[in-house]
Amino acid sequence: MTTPTDAQRMEKIVSLCKRRGFIFQSSEIYGGLNGLWDYGPLGVELKRNLKNYWWRVMVHERDDVVGMDGSILMNRAVWKASGHEDTFSDPMVDCRVCKARLRADQMIEKKGVRQCPNCGSKDLTESRPFNLMFKTYVGATEDESSITYLRPETAQSIFVQFKNVLEVSRKKLPFGIAQIGKAFRNEINPRNFTFRSREFEQMELEYFCRAEEGMRLLEYWKEQRLKFYENIGIPRDTLHVKTVSDEERAFYSTGTYDIEYDFPFGRQELEGVAYRTDYDLSQHQKASGKSLEYFDEETKQRFIPHVVEPSAGVDRTVLALICEAYSEDEAPDEKGKMETRLVLRFHPRIAPIKCAVFPLLKNKEQLVAKAKEIIDLLRPHMNVFYDESGAIGRRYRRQDEIGTPFGATVDFETLGEKDASLRDTVTLRDRDSMKQERVAIQDLAAILRARIA
Ligand code: ATP
Repeated sequence: MTTPTDAQRMEKIVSLCKRRGFIFQSSEIYGGLNGLWDYGPLGVELKRNLKNYWWRVMVHERDDVVGMDGSILMNRAVWKASGHEDTFSDPMVDCRVCKARLRADQMIEKKGVRQCPNCGSKDLTESRPFNLMFKTYVGATEDESSITYLRPETAQSIFVQFKNVLEVSRKKLPFGIAQIGKAFRNEINPRNFTFRSREFEQMELEYFCRAEEGMRLLEYWKEQRLKFYENIGIPRDTLHVKTVSDEERAFYSTGTYDIEYDFPFGRQELEGVAYRTDYDLSQHQKASGKSLEYFDEETKQRFIPHVVEPSAGVDRTVLALICEAYSEDEAPDEKGKMETRLVLRFHPRIAPIKCAVFPLLKNKEQLVAKAKEIIDLLRPHMNVFYDESGAIGRRYRRQDEIGTPFGATVDFETLGEKDASLRDTVTLRDRDSMKQERVAIQDLAAILRARIA
């Protein structure tokens, strides 16, 4: 299914990301490196808020999930057993005319004949597998015995630590192990900004269960994950659940859903929710010779648990959040004339900066002192930003552009100069409605905390 694309909107988003410090090209001063990105001061906050919220919902708010943090490099035997060394590859085709190396599934086909999507040539090689893992060497010698790979997914360290975690956490089935961490894939064709990168982060849960619970839990986790996206400001009608067909699914999986989002460059996968049966644990048990069985104390049965895996991409979700938040509307300038306002409508929960604090005038000592007092008051609770430069309208605009949901302004009323009853109150402005309310400074932290929770 195709969705309308909007290249112009995407260009504006990429340019805003750079201009305001969300995302930069990696090693930019040396011309960059394809498929690699750096997160700037605002991007890192957004990413951290997303990861923290995922961790909160998937680990802290549940009794049946614990976390772990595995190493990126692992014994090569892990990748042999998991099947990645032999099969983690994309079939690739080379075009003999324009020399492009392309994914076999991205060829165009006209009247049953495959053509190069770049130059239209029909002079193509047979498809050949291209392994997506980055190979490296551990230790001083670069020979066969020291080879390993940068992990292409975080899941495998969960499987190989299953027994240790089970023993220390004393959990009973069904229970899960969650992990957030870097993964690396030597993608042939990185594209669409950060969407397909060569280094990225995953948020993965391996939820272990009995075989008979697998299909029900697949449905359960699909629903939980859809709710998650809604709770960070990605509306349900922009999300789509694709049932992965028998042909496309991994051979060991008996059910997989892709959760897709309508990006400006088309409908694309955000997360996969897969029922992986007992494949992974069985493979590692076989290859390592160590038991990865679960002992059910009630029934006295021993068996290898099955697993349902919701696997989300941090970077893809950050990109979806930015795409969803990006909007242009109209707002009055200093003189009341309407102008275009660029605003990132982030859900307050994930916005990089929660509240900006402004003294109305920077040369009025008492206003500045009060604003700094408020900053100190809020800082232990949330990420705040102090700005005293330029007209107040401009300062609001700068915060709108980076998605700060609230702005508190210290004015002469705060000092009680006009009306004693307004002493120690500020105006609190809402980014989306642009409405202002008068709030007592002593209530500010509680009000904001409730709104960003
Ligand atoms: P795709 O079909 O887009 O290559 P995939 O099905 O191979 O993705 P999985 O192996 O299911 O992806 O990985 C789980 C999640 O990890 C994906 O849903 C995505 O969010 C993220 N992810 C995978 N590859 C990349 C990548 N190259 N760049 C950014 N995120 C990625």
